[in-house]
Amino acid sequence: MRQITHWIDGQAVAGTSGRQGPVYNPATGDQTAAVDLASAAEIDAAAETAVSAFPGWRATSLSRRSEILFRFRELVDQHRHDIARLITAEHGKVLSDALGEVARGLENVEFACGVPHLLKGGYSEQASTGVDVYSILQPLGVVAGITPFNFPAMVPMWMFSNALACGNCFILKPSEKDPSASMLFAELWHSAGLPDGVFSVVHGDREAVTRILEHPDIAAVSFVGSTPVARHVYETGTRHGKRVQALGGAKNHMVVLPDADVEMAADAAVSAGYGSAGERCMAVSAVVAVGEVADRLVEAIAARIPSVTVGPGDDPRAQMGPLVTREHRDKVVSYLDDAALGGAEVVVDGRKQRFDGDGFFLGASLVDRVRPGTRVYDEEIFGPVLSVLRVETYDDALRLVNDNPYGNGVAIYTRDGGAARRFQFEVQAGMVGVNVPIPVPVAYYSFGGWKASLFGDTHMYGPEGIHFYTRTKVVTSRWPDPSSSTIDLGFPQSR
Ligand code: NAD
Repeated sequence: MRQITHWIDGQAVAGTSGRQGPVYNPATGDQTAAVDLASAAEIDAAAETAVSAFPGWRATSLSRRSEILFRFRELVDQHRHDIARLITAEHGKVLSDALGEVARGLENVEFACGVPHLLKGGYSEQASTGVDVYSILQPLGVVAGITPFNFPAMVPMWMFSNALACGNCFILKPSEKDPSASMLFAELWHSAGLPDGVFSVVHGDREAVTRILEHPDIAAVSFVGSTPVARHVYETGTRHGKRVQALGGAKNHMVVLPDADVEMAADAAVSAGYGSAGERCMAVSAVVAVGEVADRLVEAIAARIPSVTVGPGDDPRAQMGPLVTREHRDKVVSYLDDAALGGAEVVVDGRKQRFDGDGFFLGASLVDRVRPGTRVYDEEIFGPVLSVLRVETYDDALRLVNDNPYGNGVAIYTRDGGAARRFQFEVQAGMVGVNVPIPVPVAYYSFGGWKASLFGDTHMYGPEGIHFYTRTKVVTSRWPDPSSSTIDLGFPQSR
């Protein structure tokens, strides 16, 4: 069985905890590797090398840092297909989707290549007579990233690109379900010339995360994952004096107004609902049909589902792959089992689709007349199940979205610019799409939800990422002419 090791101090290092976790190919159901799961000792070893590497890395010139970033960018570009193949083999998403993930992640590396510009501070000449004041941005030290299974390449790239560019050392704790992409990143950083110890990968589960959150030398933690773990990471990390940004789960609504182009809205709902088998934090999972559009919209979505081809991610004909594990697939099925109990109607039932072999497949499903207060609406399903909620008016739709505890992404479909603008003003969510179903911000904005979708003050990547991974120092300086020097015991005056 292939063993997936840690990466510490510039090399692959076998685990010493004696614990391993299984890694599956979700398309076949076979275990393909065993990943070493770290104990506290391995986190400590990674932190120790990072602490030693930090003084050298923070003193490395901005031009040299950006040179390494540019080289890493070229290497990722050359290896996009290798990274995508690793993602597909362990996560299950189709290869074209995995390539898209790498491309979106790469945008963050490209943003970070501009680090000399990003770290410019402010300067106020003559703040007082002969006194200048300026601000500088300095790295935090050793920072850690804890990432989810659903974007094993893109989410680590969201974090480490800016963290390293700002002069920090970075410890990545990827999802133990699909850990291989992280190891390839470690090799590529090494080839790009990043000094040993600046970037480490430590695999693990709750035990490793606990040590990260308590480790006295880790200054900040970026987390992306489910809401209960995000809340735990935020509360525990901040209690230990760390800076924490913790992004959680989601229930993303797509509001369709009566004037929307129904065919376009149905295309968008199918693409955003079933892409990556619904295992995207920005997937549309609740379509809110306003007024008389509902019947036409449900019919149009249902008509499209038979043409969604489900199959192994490495089959070029497949548009949707399997779910990540058997347990997760069975959990998603349980929502369909429950749906009718809450009075909803399963219009297209993915449980009926048959697949060869033992892969973790489930067909695309559509559930109509879903209501708040039922499991299928109240919980994040994270699978290929699209719910339709029927409401009478725009105000009902807005209330529904704003009453939901999550606030990650939301979309509105309409041809009325005034209605879209009002929605953008009134809706409580961090990322809004106007006739765009998955409004993931480009790398020079920042990504983050509201409410139970984010704990902390700072969104991820872009300008807020630079803000998160640096702290500001303000220098007040004077170069007096010695000939004018006198003793003055009075309070310093700003004149
Ligand atoms: P998860 O919360 O199970 O795991 C995320 C990370 O936390 C993993 O590295 C895992 O090893 C670790 N972890 C899991 N349980 C833990 C525990 N009890 N204590 C400490 N650490 C623990 O999430 P997942 O299933 O890997 O990913 C899917 C979830 O992530 C979904 O809820 C999805 O919405 C969310 N997500 C959110 C965003 C966003 O930007 N808001 C992006 C991607 C995924």
